[in-house]
Amino acid sequence: MARRRGGPAAAAATAVASPAVVGTVAVMALVYYSTLFVFLDHWLGLGTPAGAAHAAAVSLAVAACFFAFVCAAAADPGSVPASFAPDAEAAQGQGLKSRYCDKCCMFKPDRSHHCKVCKRCVLKMDHHCVWINNCVGYGNYKAFIICVLNATIGSLYSFVIFLCDLFLKEHEFHILYVKIVYILAGVLLFFLSLTIGSLLCWHIYLLCHNMTTIEYREAVRAKWLAKKSGQKFRHRFDLGMRKNIQMILGPNILCWLCPTATGHLKDGTEFQITNN
Ligand SMILES: [Zn+2]
Ligand SMILES: [Zn+2]
Repeated sequence: MARRRGGPAAAAATAVASPAVVGTVAVMALVYYSTLFVFLDHWLGLGTPAGAAHAAAVSLAVAACFFAFVCAAAADPGSVPASFAPDAEAAQGQGLKSRYCDKCCMFKPDRSHHCKVCKRCVLKMDHHCVWINNCVGYGNYKAFIICVLNATIGSLYSFVIFLCDLFLKEHEFHILYVKIVYILAGVLLFFLSLTIGSLLCWHIYLLCHNMTTIEYREAVRAKWLAKKSGQKFRHRFDLGMRKNIQMILGPNILCWLCPTATGHLKDGTEFQITNN
């Protein structure tokens, strides 16, 4: 996987410098600690076979989530190659104009956009994510979506363990401290499961249509116009669900969940378009 300029150490240092990244890692650590050492320990006991099995599964989910998080934060989302020159003829054939960035003072490829935070053009830019302190683009979209998937699994799993402990065991809720811990944990886990789960559903939709968040926003008007004139709108990069998924996650299904398996990615300046 391509790294940010300055090498992995510099990239990691830049990412960690963000309070939002520190906050995200702190929430991961808090959820992991409370799930294992408070709720699971109280519900089944970590020394029992069932408790140890759940502890191992939770640890695996959190470790996988953290690894994908580091990959998404430290990877280069994709910068425009200095040698990039637009194919004006091909663009004209598609009824498009060459795209120029006034801020970078250079031509930019299809699907790339200028990020105000990163102060540069990013290939196939989806959005700038404060939680990883990095743009989500061509180079790290796979790591990002796997991170969101693992975070959804981890938070839902933690929430289920919390609910099992809450309803299947007796608690000393007459002690104010215990009551507060359970209320705060319940609200946090419910909120996390709901928001991260919704984010996952949104990105699965985009993945299946080979769309970025920016392209979805841009397509709203095109969709409306198509509907008004009785036509069916189709995103020009939508090559069908199977191909769309393979373009992001790779051709080998066994490597779909590995955030570093990105050998299928090209330079991110050219994309196949649909014939329809
Ligand atoms: Zn730019
Ligand atoms: Zn950015």
